[in-house]
Amino acid sequence: MTVQNASGRLRSVCDRIARACAAAGRNPGDVLLIGVSKTHPPQAISELVHAGLTHFGENRVQELRAKHDELPDVVWHLIGQLQTNKAATAVQTATLIHSLDRASLAKKLSDEATKQQRSCRALLQVNVDDDPQKAGCQVSEAHDLLAYATSLPHLHIEGLMTIPAAPPAGVDPNTAARPAFATLRELRDALAKDFPQLTQLSMGMSQDVEAAVSEGATMVRVGTALFGSRGAGPWQKDQL
Ligand SMILES: *Cc1c(COP(=O)(O)O)cnc(C)c1O
Repeated sequence: MTVQNASGRLRSVCDRIARACAAAGRNPGDVLLIGVSKTHPPQAISELVHAGLTHFGENRVQELRAKHDELPDVVWHLIGQLQTNKAATAVQTATLIHSLDRASLAKKLSDEATKQQRSCRALLQVNVDDDPQKAGCQVSEAHDLLAYATSLPHLHIEGLMTIPAAPPAGVDPNTAARPAFATLRELRDALAKDFPQLTQLSMGMSQDVEAAVSEGATMVRVGTALFGSRGAGPWQKDQL
């Protein structure tokens, strides 16, 4: 197998999304590709920027801030669990926060956005598989949490996000993840009666982009298929 360069990997991922869209009768322009750059150095991100990718996601606030400083023109997403004490930095650096999962965090994001005189865009992360390893609110909590979060100033909830449970050994990841993606879409459709602003579905990663697109993903978060395998820890400026 030949090792592809950044533009080749980007083309492969875009082809997979385009084929899944064609099969589902969807427009590829309705699926935003977010490159998940956690652990990778700014140089690797720049290569994908040159190849045409503009949206990137990080799962740690400190790493997000460091890369935001290096590459301020990238559109940054925060996709990992967010501690309340890092909400100010998240509001400053992330265009969209995918991991809002509790009332106390909604309040803190709203307070920070108000203080910084900007608006904070977020998605509600839902743990549709009830996986104890995963963050996210329960399906049964989503409505009350949305009623509260959407009442807060400067905080805009635009949709739902989920991370499915890891597929059991030997099971095709697309097959394994599809029920979770369908559940998130059905939940969004049900909630949209009271919260019509829920237009986004952030779901699908390297292994299961096809199932996510089939079930209506509007944003997919792809790391390994764009960057190759990840390093051991977070990237830090000045690391040797
Ligand atoms: C790391 C990560 C991804 C990307 O995973 P890959 O399998 O490398 O594509 C997507 N979403 C979240 C929340 C992540 O933490």
